[in-house]
Amino acid sequence: LVNRKFHPEDTIIDVNGIQIGGKKIVMIAGPCSVEGEEQITRIANEVKNCGADMLRGGAYKPRTSPYAFQGLGTEGINDLCIAREQTGLPIVSELMAVEHLDEFVQNVDIIQIGARNMQNFDLLKAVGRTKKPVLLKRGLANTINEWIMAAEYIMSEGNPNVIFCERGIRTFETMTRNTLDLAVIPIIKERTHLPIIIDPSHAAGDWKLIESLSLAAIAAGADGLIIEVHDNPECAWSDGDQSLKPEKYASLVQKGRKIAEVI
Ligand code: PEP
Ligand code: MN
Repeated sequence: LVNRKFHPEDTIIDVNGIQIGGKKIVMIAGPCSVEGEEQITRIANEVKNCGADMLRGGAYKPRTSPYAFQGLGTEGINDLCIAREQTGLPIVSELMAVEHLDEFVQNVDIIQIGARNMQNFDLLKAVGRTKKPVLLKRGLANTINEWIMAAEYIMSEGNPNVIFCERGIRTFETMTRNTLDLAVIPIIKERTHLPIIIDPSHAAGDWKLIESLSLAAIAAGADGLIIEVHDNPECAWSDGDQSLKPEKYASLVQKGRKIAEVI
């Protein structure tokens, strides 16, 4: 179902009137974690003014330590809905467990499957039984074939709305949090008909690298970017080191859209 051989034309996924995989690149931005209604509505307005098309924010967080902030849960989802109401930006958030599926189907516009759950086959099948667009992140140490088969799990249950998202993989390198694999863009485009967006934030782990990686991804043919933006990164509840301030994000969006025009 994912294979381009049996579906030669590009799939375009419509999310509240915004097309992913079409001519225009899609810019998704927002904090790693929703920290409250005031924070998420404020950042939503900021990223919208910078030119973002959609808002991201985690309400259920997959943290390495069980003692780290785990997300606001339902309260965070409600805060995202308020931010959407105020800005009109569709919302993207990570689903970690099948038990929260109904909450996500009712409230979010794109369900994110995080890197750590790329091969959680029960979760893949569950989102596959809905029609919600699914942002399928590549696992920390998964091959492209495994990633494609994860997308096949979702599609085989009847959901055609799958978007690949590369977010860096584990390598021997320690200067970056992960290694961004941009070769996946032409490979996914050759092998599949589905859109692919790039998450330079979790790949780099360092805000200083985000612009270069983003522009490279657009030049390589990515259908969009998902980037962590926070207006006070030093105090962010998670992933502050890799979060861009809105001013920096605004200039990235402008440069990125210029590159997209010429490729
Ligand atoms: C995130 O988007 O905040 C996140 C945890 O991403 P990943 O699953 O790629 O680590
Ligand atoms: Mn994050």
